[in-house]
Amino acid sequence: MRRPATSSEKVPRWLTKAYTRLVAISRQMGADVKVGDIIHSGEFQAETMCITMKRGLSPRDRINYLLHEMGHVSIYQDGLTETRYHGETDSPDIPARLSLLDEEFEAWDRGRSIAAHARIPLDQSFNDAMVHSMTEYVKWVLDTPREFGVTTIDVNDLPQEDPLKVAGDGCDEDENGKS
Ligand SMILES: [Zn+2]
Repeated sequence: MRRPATSSEKVPRWLTKAYTRLVAISRQMGADVKVGDIIHSGEFQAETMCITMKRGLSPRDRINYLLHEMGHVSIYQDGLTETRYHGETDSPDIPARLSLLDEEFEAWDRGRSIAAHARIPLDQSFNDAMVHSMTEYVKWVLDTPREFGVTTIDVNDLPQEDPLKVAGDGCDEDENGKS
């Protein structure tokens, strides 16, 4: 007797192929992909060059979140983790938290590009995954403890001399440097 179809049997075969293709590309990029019982949908650990995907994700979300983690690998490989971004999930203050938020956006953006290069069509679930994930990070920024909040600039700390005046008045000069 034939078993009733379960949802996993209705998954188009190409979705499984797409995931396999992404895992292969990820290994080419230098990061291994494994499955684990983790809290978040995906994690990338630079020290071990390992992406862990949460067990039990839907076929679409497996692809969506793997693309995002591959985006993190790409950012790391470009050396931007330390130079442009310096936020960690235990960052106490707003600038570091915003920096991490910025990196998260870029990881989604790079994930979208990786999908395009791998000819994997994305659907609304990719945006949904991004919105869900980014919403959590935005909440985390807003939850910054008050003592680590933004400090206002003291006008007395600003230079009193006009720092823009050093090399002439700029727009007041013509091309020959004459006023
Ligand atoms: Zn991320």
